[in-house]
Amino acid sequence: MPGKPDDIKMVSNAMANAPRRKMMSLLANGDRTVEEIGEAVGKSMLDYHLKILEQAGLLEIKDGNASLSEFGKNFMEEKSEKGPQKAADLSKAKPVEIAEVRQLIPCIADSTKFRTIANMAPPLAGSLKHLEPLFPRGRYSGKIGALMIQRGEILITVYGSGKVTMTMIKDEDEAKKILDDLRTTINRAIESGVTPVPRERVKVDPLEIRKYLPRTDCGECGEQSCYSFAIRLMAGEVSLDLCAPLKEPKYRQNLEHLKVLAEYI
Ligand code: SF4
Repeated sequence: MPGKPDDIKMVSNAMANAPRRKMMSLLANGDRTVEEIGEAVGKSMLDYHLKILEQAGLLEIKDGNASLSEFGKNFMEEKSEKGPQKAADLSKAKPVEIAEVRQLIPCIADSTKFRTIANMAPPLAGSLKHLEPLFPRGRYSGKIGALMIQRGEILITVYGSGKVTMTMIKDEDEAKKILDDLRTTINRAIESGVTPVPRERVKVDPLEIRKYLPRTDCGECGEQSCYSFAIRLMAGEVSLDLCAPLKEPKYRQNLEHLKVLAEYI
């Protein structure tokens, strides 16, 4: 049964993914064949997800049949005692509009890119923090009252007051496209009245990230080592795309794993 820090991290990582949580809920209601799981949850990366759950000690697979391990059963029982996390009520929020980009000034980090300021109305104020789960790389900061969304190298910051800033923008067209996507995603949630349940937070260690990088310290990403790349990835300052060797076929599994981890940084 997991008990050591590494084991706990494996369980957190295994459960930090929506399809894997669905698989666990399905198996909590009885054993299933791998095929049945694929039909219920989706076949994309099915073997990979099952392997992660198996490695975490949460389930067992034998002759194409999957069942919860003893630890998996206890884990799911504890979870149901705690009760499900609630989705946030957005019924009082009004659909937003985003006004024209007001400024386009060169970025300090890269003078070929721009920093923009736009305005969202009406301001989302208190509803803003509930929008975090809508964005895979979104993080709400209560300290500054803003939702920060990382999209590749672009950082979008939506303030409760309605101000929206973006850095590392190529041109005005790109700024408009991103703002339009942002408005559509937010308004869809407002129309439905609820946001998705909050994501489970996983603490990812830079060493954990480094483990799945090629570890050649080749410097192609512009960093001196894979470890410094991992630290900057954790800080949301770089994206996985910058590691060219990771695109080689031999690192395919590593890349898949890193994508999952990156969603929860
Ligand atoms: S490009 Fe990839 S392999 Fe090379 S140093 Fe950067 S992270 Fe490491």
